This record gives sequence, C-alpha cells and structure tokens, in this order.
Amino acid sequence: MSRGVWEVPAPQLRAARLCGAAGAEGGEGGEDGEDVTVVAPLTDAHVHLELADLPAAGSGTLARVLDLGGDPRRLAARARTAEQSGAATEIRWAGAFLTAPGGYPTDRGWVPAGSTREIRTPAEAAAAVAEQLSGGACLIKVALHADAGPVLDDPTLSAVVDSARGCGVPVVAHVEGPGQAARAAASGVRVLAHTPWTERLDDDLLAHTAERMVWISTLDMHRRDGDTQAWETATENLRGFLSRGGRAVYGTDLGNGLSTPELHAPEVEALVSVGRRAGLDDADLLAAFTGAPLLPDHAGTVSVLPAEVRTAGEALAALSQSRPVRRTALKEPPR
Ligand SMILES: [Zn+2]
Repeated sequence: MSRGVWEVPAPQLRAARLCGAAGAEGGEGGEDGEDVTVVAPLTDAHVHLELADLPAAGSGTLARVLDLGGDPRRLAARARTAEQSGAATEIRWAGAFLTAPGGYPTDRGWVPAGSTREIRTPAEAAAAVAEQLSGGACLIKVALHADAGPVLDDPTLSAVVDSARGCGVPVVAHVEGPGQAARAAASGVRVLAHTPWTERLDDDLLAHTAERMVWISTLDMHRRDGDTQAWETATENLRGFLSRGGRAVYGTDLGNGLSTPELHAPEVEALVSVGRRAGLDDADLLAAFTGAPLLPDHAGTVSVLPAEVRTAGEALAALSQSRPVRRTALKEPPR
C-alpha cells in the first residue's frame, strides 16, 4: 500500500542489540547489551503537549509525538530541552491553530497563549504559514469547526493549503460540523486531525478522501466523553475510509480528557478492531502506529520490543511492551 501524504515502505522488524544504559540490566544479550526487535518509532500523531504532562525523560512507551496546536516557539524550546536531556521521545509539531477571526478555538478556556493565529483574508495566509514553519512546524493545522463560530472561507482555506504546499508541507484540519470534511477535501487538505464524527460521510466522499488523505484516529475520545452517537459515527466513517484503501494513523488527542503521554490501550484496541473489520492486515495496522505515512522521515528515535517478536502480528500484540530508544543506542548485529 502506498497511499498517504508520502509513500513509505511497510514497517520492517529487525533484530538489534541495545547498548549501554539504554539496555535493561541483566538483559538477554549478556554483558554487552540486550537483544531487542526494532520497529519504526511508535507515534501518537495527535497530542497537545501544553495540556499534558510529558516528563523530562520522555514517554515510557512513545518514541514520537506530534503536537497539533500550540505556540511553535514554545514547542521548539520544549523539543530542544528534551533532546538535550537525552529523552528518547521525539517531539514534532504543527504550530498554532490557523482559524477565522473569533473562530474555534480562540474562545476556549484551555487554549494557551500563542496557540491560535487568526487569518482575515487570503492575503494573510502566506505570512501565517511562514510563521509556523519558521518556528519549526512540520505540518500546518487549520480549524474548521462550523458549530463554534466563524470558519475560514473557501478562498482563505485554499490560500493556506497553497502556501503550505508551496513550502512542501501538508495541512491537517480539525473538521467538525456539517460539510466541513467535504470542504477540507475539496480544498486539498491532506490530513484530518480526527476521524470525522459529527456526520456520516457518503460513499463518494469516503472514496475521495481514501485516495488523498490520512486520518488520525482519535476514536476513544468519544468513549471518554460518553458520546455513543459520536463513537458510532466515527467508527463507521473510519471503517468505510480504511476499507476503501485510506490510511489512518494512531492519535489520542492527548490533553483532551487524557494527560499521560503513553500508549493508550483503549485507542490501540479501537483502531485495531476497526482496522480488522475494514480488512487491514497486520503490516498495515502496525504502520498506523508508527506515524507512517504521515511522518515518514525516520526520527532520531525508534521503538524496541522484546527479541522474541518476529512478525507484525506479534508486534501488534506486544505494543504495550514497547520502549522508545535513541537510534545511537542500537548496535546492528553482523549479518
Ligand atoms: Zn486536538
């Protein structure tokens, strides 16, 4: 399968030895390290670090997190500190929410200063995009929430997408309310920050988005909210999207009813279960947990699993035992 924002190979499992302090004491590899199986970095592709609690040492299970709405300069500083302190969780970010004047989430109490950027006209789009990229953003986030105030109009949304595309980065949209998923698709948005949950997408829109988009799962937030209707709509949309060849990645919306930046078992279970119903095989499912095909360039970190894990299916079953490590802590065995 090659659909997605970027083409990426299926995740490979390989044997390696974990050296030095990163290896568990008394690990299976004997005195000079611990034998492990390496996979691509397990990634939560939807977090809000300023609303959560990432320890200086990083997450115990996640090798990478993607922040989808925060001040890019503060996030860059946080990523630098994490890197310098030797944390094995890489931080990536999209920068501020680009939104219409007074639009979501400018009026929300949880929004930290600097994490929204209002855009009045198409002419302002390029500057808003450039501000995020100069702050190190690897995607551009837009909010299209029609039930919570004004949303960007079509020309302004298109100007944002064109500016981002011109800089080689995709746009990720929060879509909520009637017709917003269709608007995002029509304007060339490549990523949805959440599986759409406020309306069922029709067959044509599912097929269109499956060819062009990556969706970030965030299914379990509806169970955290106790919103059965939203859960059912989202799981059916995701099943329809995946069964038409769409690519999804794992994301929790960390910071929204969830504050611990670790692999979240209910989201894992939900994504695996919907994926299986849609006919995904183990390799496709495992890819969804590594951020591929949303963030394909390999991070400075990877995830390691017990050495006995040899197949994608075994890796899926062992996700809760994964640990992030820096690439530099691994020694590849001689072939
Ligand atoms: Zn979010």
